[in-house]
Amino acid sequence: MGEPLAIDGGRPVRSRLLPYGRQTIDDADVAAVVATLRSDWLTTGPAVAQFERRFAEVVSARYAVAVSSGTAALHAAAFAAGISPGDEAITTPLTFVATSNAVLYQGGRPVFADIDPKRLTIAPASIAPLLTSRTKAIMPVHYAGQPCDLDAIHALARARGLRVIEDAAHALGAEYHGRPVGALSDMTIFSFHPVKHVTSGEGGVVTTDDADLADRVRRFRNHGLAADAAARNASGALYSEMVDLGFNYRITDIQCALATTQLGKLEASLARREAIARRYRSALGEQRGLTMPTTAGDVRHAWHIFPILLELDRLAVDRQTIFAALRAENIGVTVHYIPVYWHPYYERLGYRRGLCPVAEDVAGRLLTLPMFPAMSDPDVDDVVTALAKVLGHYAR
Ligand SMILES: *Cc1c(COP(=O)(O)O)cnc(C)c1O
Repeated sequence: MGEPLAIDGGRPVRSRLLPYGRQTIDDADVAAVVATLRSDWLTTGPAVAQFERRFAEVVSARYAVAVSSGTAALHAAAFAAGISPGDEAITTPLTFVATSNAVLYQGGRPVFADIDPKRLTIAPASIAPLLTSRTKAIMPVHYAGQPCDLDAIHALARARGLRVIEDAAHALGAEYHGRPVGALSDMTIFSFHPVKHVTSGEGGVVTTDDADLADRVRRFRNHGLAADAAARNASGALYSEMVDLGFNYRITDIQCALATTQLGKLEASLARREAIARRYRSALGEQRGLTMPTTAGDVRHAWHIFPILLELDRLAVDRQTIFAALRAENIGVTVHYIPVYWHPYYERLGYRRGLCPVAEDVAGRLLTLPMFPAMSDPDVDDVVTALAKVLGHYAR
């Protein structure tokens, strides 16, 4: 018998909770926000335009249109892609609800394709049988930060004239066949939520090489008005015409000032995430009771999260117990995700369990380990120690 588990009254591996993710804010970030607060513009001013230019450069896209959240970016992209009532869009069930909700916002129907059991991203072979005359778009997600099999997805889309919208909320800085994620498909979206690679508090962006799609997204974030305030002032027009039904999805200059200084630290934070992933992978390679998703050879993984898969047949207890035991050791494990269509709202829409057997099996065994740039090597080692302690205790 090893040391008693914290959940049974033993001493926890850590005295304070290690969260699964958190932002890194430094003095330059704070100074940039303060300077913007003292400037002439609080929203839709020079900081938004400057950030959009910087961001487009970083992902090698022609256009970047920043909005108020990753969810707003998904909604705007679904609008720009022309998804309307009756249309279908194919996506993965192993994602945050926002991906498929964007299709619902437009009155479309999300169709869930199963995932690859090793990479955990959408399996192109499971997309093909789901294509119908109503399919309008494919919306892959780069789960955990690993680009999915884009070549196969693009081939399917090209053959049928479908739009591809990548949900790259996990994948800022990722590369596919040596090219950055962000200009590989019709549109790509990113999120600036605090757990993501770059934060603006809340925020998101749509990137594209297509000027028309960029225009549509730009109008959509501003009520569907044909010109924003600056353009109207510059042209001397009395008013701006509303040509689409849009929303107020604008992002502020305050947020973009922060996002710009954050973006400057992207490479360093990606490098740290890679180092943490390497440390986990070498320490956990021999650990009984878990396996790790594989990384394809032709990608740069952005390591937004570090998921593991429990081998429940080698453990005497269920995932809930392992989760609770690790939490008691003050390791902030979490779960990304339950299959989207298991949520009660989706069940009410008529989606039934059993639709995507691989995703359902995987989703029942996943745990996300802590992963953020400010984590130290001893922090990583605490997670490894706690896993050995808990999985060893419950081994069978
Ligand atoms: C974070 C996230 C979103 C939503 O982004 P918000 O900025 O929180 O609205 C969408 N999809 C995925 C996969 C995400 O992880």
